[in-house]
Amino acid sequence: MDREELADLINEAGEPGYRAKQILDAVYRQRVESLDQISTLPAEFRESLARNGVSVGAPRIEQKFVSQDGTVRYLIAFADGQSVEAVWMPEGDGGEAGDGSEAGEEAQETRSRPGRSTICISSQVGCAVDCQFCLTALLGIKRNLSAGDIVGQVCAVLKDQQVSPPEDRINLVFMGMGEPFLNYDNFTKAARLLVENVGIAERRMTVSTAGIVPRIYDFGRERIRPKLAISLNASNDLLRTRLMPLNKKWNLEMLIAAARTFPLRTRECITFEYVLMGGVNDEPSNAKEVAELVRGMRCKVNLIALNPGPGVEFATPSPERVLAFQNSLRASGVPAFVRRPRGRDIFAACGQLKRTVESATPASSLHSISPARE
Ligand code: SAH
Repeated sequence: MDREELADLINEAGEPGYRAKQILDAVYRQRVESLDQISTLPAEFRESLARNGVSVGAPRIEQKFVSQDGTVRYLIAFADGQSVEAVWMPEGDGGEAGDGSEAGEEAQETRSRPGRSTICISSQVGCAVDCQFCLTALLGIKRNLSAGDIVGQVCAVLKDQQVSPPEDRINLVFMGMGEPFLNYDNFTKAARLLVENVGIAERRMTVSTAGIVPRIYDFGRERIRPKLAISLNASNDLLRTRLMPLNKKWNLEMLIAAARTFPLRTRECITFEYVLMGGVNDEPSNAKEVAELVRGMRCKVNLIALNPGPGVEFATPSPERVLAFQNSLRASGVPAFVRRPRGRDIFAACGQLKRTVESATPASSLHSISPARE
C-alpha cells in the first residue's frame, strides 16, 4: 500500500492521520514482520486491522548462495509458494545505476567507501518474453509480482545485509527475472514506494526492458521513474528477431524511435545492453550497425559477454572479441563499457536467474546456506 491507500484505510477506521506515517515507517524502514511489532499503534487498532485482513511482512528468504566475488543470490518465496531470485552485489560497479560509470577507477575509488552496493530484483515469476539466450525464458511466465512483492524483495535483502538507505548508498536495478514493462502498473507503483518510503534515490534506480515499445512512451511520462535501459542485443532486425522474437512486434525502427524521443533528465542517458554471442552478433559489422542505430543519441552501450547456462546454445565470445567490439563502438564515438560478470559461479549473473529449485544442474553443486532465515 502507498500513503494514499493507507490514508483511506485509516480514515475508514476513524484513526488520526499520523497513523499512516507510523505504519509506513514500521513497514518500510524498521521492516517489521507482523502487525504486533508495530508498537506505536494502539493494540485495539492493530487487532481491528488484523480482523479486516490487513497483514504486514516481507517475503521469506528461502535460499542464499554466496559467490567467490561476494555476490549473493537469494531465492525469495512469497506466501503463495511462488518464488523469484534477487541478487546482492556488494560495492563496485554492479551494473547500471548510480552515475552509470563503470570505469575501473570508479570501482577503485568506491572500495574505500562502504555501502555502495547494488540490488538486482525481479518483476515477474518467470518471463513471457522468449529471448533465446536467457535462462529465465525457459520458465515461461507464472505470474506478475505485486508492488508489495517487488518492494518486499528489496526489504528482505536490505534486512539480511543489515543496510538501510539513504544512509547506505544503494543502487537498484530492475534486471532480475521477468519483464518489468509487462507488469507495468505494479512495477511503477513499486518504484514510487521505493523512492518515497524505502529511501532509495530515484537516480540510483534503473529499469531494463526487452523493448515493450508502448510502455517506453508511458514510462517517459511518469512523475517518479528509474533510469531506462533497453536490451538491444542485435544490430539488425533479422538478427534481433532470431534472438528476441518480440522484435517481430516491435522492431528496431519502432524501438529506436521510442528511445530517441524519450524525455531525458539533466545529465541522464539511455543505456543499451548488448549481450555478445560468439559468431552470432559480435562481428565488426555488427558493431558498425549498432553505432549507426544509436548515432547522435545521448546514450551508452553496456556490453555483456554471454553468461552460459544449461539449455542455452550460444557461445561466450573471447575477451579479445569483446574488447574489439568495444573499441569499434568507441571509435565510432559511442561510449561503450564491458560489464563485469558478477556471481557467475553461483548462476547469479545476467540471464542466469531461474528458480534454483527448477534448475537441476547447478543447485546441487553450489555452496548453499539454507534456510537463511526462518
Ligand atoms: N526483461 C528485461 C529485464 C531483465 S534484464 C530485459 O530483458 O531487459 C536482464 C539482462 O540480461 C538483459 O539485458 C538481457 O539481455 C541480459 N541477458 C539475458 N540472458 C543473458 C545471458 N545468458 N548472458 C548475459 N546476459 C543475458
